[in-house]
Amino acid sequence: MSKIHNFSAGPAILPQSAIDASIEALKNFSNTGLSLIEISHRSKEYEAVLREACELVKEILNLGNDYDVVFLQGGASLQFDMVPMNLLNENGTACYINSGVWASKAIKEAKYFGNVNVVASSEDKNFSYIPKDYTIPADANYFHCTSNNTIYGTEMFEFPHSPIPMICDMSSDIFSRPFDAGKFSLIYAGAQKNMGPAGTTLVIIKKGLLGKVTRKIPSMLEYKNHIEGESMYNTPSVFAIFVCMHTLRWIKSIGLEAMEARNIEKSNLLYSEIDRNSIFEGTVAIEDRSRMNVNFVLKNKEFEDDFLKLCKQRNLNGLKGHRLVGGLRASLYNALEIESVQALVETMQEFENEKNKSN
Ligand SMILES: *Cc1c(COP(=O)(O)O)cnc(C)c1O
Repeated sequence: MSKIHNFSAGPAILPQSAIDASIEALKNFSNTGLSLIEISHRSKEYEAVLREACELVKEILNLGNDYDVVFLQGGASLQFDMVPMNLLNENGTACYINSGVWASKAIKEAKYFGNVNVVASSEDKNFSYIPKDYTIPADANYFHCTSNNTIYGTEMFEFPHSPIPMICDMSSDIFSRPFDAGKFSLIYAGAQKNMGPAGTTLVIIKKGLLGKVTRKIPSMLEYKNHIEGESMYNTPSVFAIFVCMHTLRWIKSIGLEAMEARNIEKSNLLYSEIDRNSIFEGTVAIEDRSRMNVNFVLKNKEFEDDFLKLCKQRNLNGLKGHRLVGGLRASLYNALEIESVQALVETMQEFENEKNKSN
């Protein structure tokens, strides 16, 4: 079978080393003679996997012992609830930036638990930029932002100085570049964009952040229980965390600086072609263009199906834009190789030549 270039937005491309290790572990996990998916999560072989995954997160992000790392379930979407449930009192206020669909959902959930102050929004221009002028009130409980807006293709390259605990949904750009994790009180990321398969969510929590709300929190939704249970308060996503651990090993072997350089090279290559090619155009503010999700459209919308058909013939997969925004989206997550971007660029050039000929 010839290579399929996987531009899917999530679940998404993973490093081959993680796939190979998973296949092996499904047959014989860590020389136990048993499959990874039929052993106890409390076996010493599996406990070592979970421990290594948490340690790799700390190591890669340079986190000190003032942070706890857990792998939970319920996706990033459950974090939209767990964050305010654990951190926002009914009479308190949380600040949010509304930079896209996921941020809007986070805001909607927070309103179930307390007051929400949307300090900035880019909804006025269909979320095509990152809001930059805003102040974060010092008396709110926390400030929440979304580092990469997966659906619109905008990314926050700078984070504000927040006088209150800063919380970030990094589902789609975590481990894509170095950043100062010490600025954040809580970071969460669904695994299936940039660090593993669907089924687990990484949550990083600064010590001392919890224990300030007065509401009663159901046990499974209380961070404290998962931290004390070392991600085994209940049965963890055994398989998903295993794949994350191997993906994290791969990320560590490259390093975040080199990963950023790779991601800059890939995204520059594609954005340059979008800007040069007479058929296509970008959809978001240039300075906020995401390196992870590249959104673009055909100037003549009627050509879209033809272009997607050609993409399919050229083994380019996953380019249709999100159903809410349409157009095209190429997701260039960490594991995507530059050869895949080159193949896309060549197909865009081929399509342009074809259209110019028929005119
Ligand atoms: C995909 C995504 C989510 C939702 O993740 P689920 O794991 O499906 O709940 C939330 N935030 C961002 C930024 C995302 O990209």
